[in-house]
Parts: sequence; C-alpha cells; structure tokens
Amino acid sequence: MGKIYVVGIGPGCSRMMTEQAKELLRGCDVIVGYRTYVDLVREEFSGKVFYESAMRQETERCLKCIEFASEGKTVALICSGDAGIYGMASPLLEMADREGFSDVEIIPGITAASSGAALLGAPIGHDVCLISLSDLLTDWALIEKRLLCAAEGDFCIVLYNPASKNRKDHLSKACKILLTRLPPDTPCGYVRKIGREGTQKKTCTLEELRTVEADMFTTVFIGSSRTKIAGDWLITPRGFRL
Ligand code: SAH
Repeated sequence: MGKIYVVGIGPGCSRMMTEQAKELLRGCDVIVGYRTYVDLVREEFSGKVFYESAMRQETERCLKCIEFASEGKTVALICSGDAGIYGMASPLLEMADREGFSDVEIIPGITAASSGAALLGAPIGHDVCLISLSDLLTDWALIEKRLLCAAEGDFCIVLYNPASKNRKDHLSKACKILLTRLPPDTPCGYVRKIGREGTQKKTCTLEELRTVEADMFTTVFIGSSRTKIAGDWLITPRGFRL
C-alpha cells in the first residue's frame, strides 16, 4: 500500500512553499491536483507523473489518489495555500474514511489570510473570522448569517472566494450586508495574486470595497472597530499601550 499526502503549496511561488512540502513533492511518485495548481509546480518538479483535473472534479481527484495509493504509489494531492483551509484535506479524509484507506498525512501551507495579511501589514492582529463567499456548496443564507454574526462579534473578517467568473457581485452583496452593522468608513483592504506575477494590494473603506471588482485570485480583509489605516498599512492593534 502506498500513502497519500495532502500538501498545501502556499500562495503560488516556490519561495513561499515550505521545505516539508518541497521534500514531499520531490519524493512522491505522482502529483495530483487542480490544473492551475499543477501548472505552478510542474517546472520545479518536472520528471514526476502529474494527474490533473478540472475545477469541480474534487471527488474524482480524491478517488484517483486512493486508486494510485492502492497500487503502492506515494501520492501528493496538492492545493493552494493551506491544505485544510478551503482545501482538499477534508474531502480526501472523508473519502479515505469511506473507502477504508488510512495512510494519509496532511502537510500545512501558508494560507491566503496569512500571506495576504503580511502584504497589507497586520490586519488580523486580533481575533478573526475566515468566511468564503462561494455558494457552490454553502447556502447563501448561511453565508449572510455568518457575515452578520462576525460583524456583531466585532471580528476582523477575511473573505475567501469573493468572486468567480459566474458570481461577480458577491463581494458587493457581502459589503451591503456588513454595512447594516458596520460604519462605512471601516478600514478594509484587499490583495490579488499573492506570490504570483502582478501582485496587488490596496487599502480602502468598507463603502469603497462595495465597488471593487474582485476575482477568484482576490482575498479581502475587513477590519474590526479597532482596525486603522496608517500610511500604506492596515493595522489591527493587539492592545499594547505604545
Ligand atoms: N486553500 C487556500 C484557499 C482556497 S479557496 C488557502 O489556504 O489559501 C480560493 C481562494 O483563496 C481564492 O478565491 C482567494 O480568495 C484565496 N487565494 C488563494 N490563493 C491566493 C493568492 N495567491 N492570492 C490571493 N488570494 C488567494
């Protein structure tokens, strides 16, 4: 029997991938992943067998990993950022449990909340909620409820999946909901293409965020009542008297 590693490769560039992840990719027999992510590692780990599939083929990808491992292969199932944050760790473990396959290890990576926060300064220096705006697998009503609860709780909020090709207005809808609880001048920021060519970062207010055109490579930060903009930085104080 082989083994399956679910590997978070970080935001997209080799320098931001952990040494542990690299070691595993160098040592495995086959690298499995969504096409875009496989493209990110293909050159550095050339010589490997790659198995790539399209978006929304997650179930098939997990089954394929178990099939490869059952043939005795060491498999690395890659995902961007961290393997366990909107990544492949949960579906793979669910599938492995169903299929009675137990030799699995999860390898963490730098998630967009953390790499994006570093670009903006320190927007999540205090308690934070991560919320995905993708309603492919989650009812929009539940997403709205979570947004409202996070705002009520005065959390900093990091929005993953703020838009996709077919859902252009989710960020604007989310801002509208948040504006029922938060002041329009709430400090916010967003980053695009972390660790890839054309990285962008910008601070703005919640009101301004409403009209920002996000895409699937954007991660959005919404401040708490303590968050402030200082020069180019977005800072959520920890509370030290300075
Ligand atoms: N497992 C990933 C998240 C996958 S969900 C992680 O831990 O980061 C996909 C969403 O993550 C994107 O829509 C975007 O909001 C965010 N994201 C992933 N990679 C990114 C990058 N390089 N730059 C900006 N946002 C990114």
